[in-house]
Amino acid sequence: MSEPRGDSRRSFLTGGLVGAAAGITGASAAGVFSRPGRAAVHGGGRKRVSWRLASSFPKTLPAIYGTAELLAERVAAMTDGAFTIRCHQANELVPAGQVMDAVEKGSAEVGQTAGYYYTGKDPALAFDTCVPFGLTARQQDAWLERAGGRELLREVYRDFGIRNYTCGNTGAQMGGWFREPIATARDLKGLRMRIPGLGGKVMDRLGVSVQMLAAGDIYPALERGAIDATEWVGPFDDERLGFHEIASNYYYPGWWEPGPSLSFMVSQRAFDALPPDYQAIFEAAVTAAAPTMLQRYDRENPAALQRLLHKGVQLRPFSEDILRAAREASSSLLDDEAAKDKRYRRILAHWRAFQRDSVRWASTNELAYANFIARG
Ligand code: CA
Repeated sequence: MSEPRGDSRRSFLTGGLVGAAAGITGASAAGVFSRPGRAAVHGGGRKRVSWRLASSFPKTLPAIYGTAELLAERVAAMTDGAFTIRCHQANELVPAGQVMDAVEKGSAEVGQTAGYYYTGKDPALAFDTCVPFGLTARQQDAWLERAGGRELLREVYRDFGIRNYTCGNTGAQMGGWFREPIATARDLKGLRMRIPGLGGKVMDRLGVSVQMLAAGDIYPALERGAIDATEWVGPFDDERLGFHEIASNYYYPGWWEPGPSLSFMVSQRAFDALPPDYQAIFEAAVTAAAPTMLQRYDRENPAALQRLLHKGVQLRPFSEDILRAAREASSSLLDDEAAKDKRYRRILAHWRAFQRDSVRWASTNELAYANFIARG
């Protein structure tokens, strides 16, 4: 089975499209696509495979959960319904924060979750999602799929019997909701905030009391005053979760998540047990589903932000003081982790070199354009 990236994936896709077209005319390619005459027979005599997908996310977050549903739909469509993936939203099959554990144990063949929820298993898993002051969505995608990031992370996931794929990216996230305005890094001390991943560790270094809560638990915690602030994703999702009803100061940018990619984690054992054509179909379906997440966010966020502003939300930028203190804490956090672990060190060095070159290029061209256009 070839790796699901680079030219091999592209050539499969090209071949797949040719195969699909051939199927329509009755000349099915390599048995991957159904022959019209057999379409009425459910599964067409193919091997039946039923997988369970456990998501860390609820159905009420359609941009994220939708990529899991689309994956299942594409896999079923490409196998005449013989290979099915049953999607379970957060807490239906396993608790939201234990999706990786479920895939490790085999109680779900696929998980839809975020690598950085599991840095307790291996700190390097943060790079599968994002690290503070890290890559934008485009850069993250390029690093993972073209620059070697995927291979580096496969090494880490292999320790857990897991094969990872990107299931989409949210784009730059917002800095979250605060009951009271915060002007300087000093104002963060003692604040109780829901923020996962390395962002949480950086906030911890800045004196924040960090909490990790799943989507459905955040609003109640805010409501009863157990937390003073929370971050989630951005206007489209945040509006649905209703945080603005309690904490009306909406900060930006979400420097801890400038372009986080979420993950499909697949049991390597389950993947190895698939026929080769199902493996290729699964990977083609991932490739089809993943980009829809950012597309939906880019479509929905602008209007959602306007609605929130009409409801009285106060949009506030993080001050230079906070950004500088956070970047410094972030950089030393990454260095500290690297000092403890050789593999982490190798991944960080690769990642930093990519970021340096990528920022130099993006700042030269796209940023100049974006700045000019933004001035109106
Ligand atoms: Ca977030």
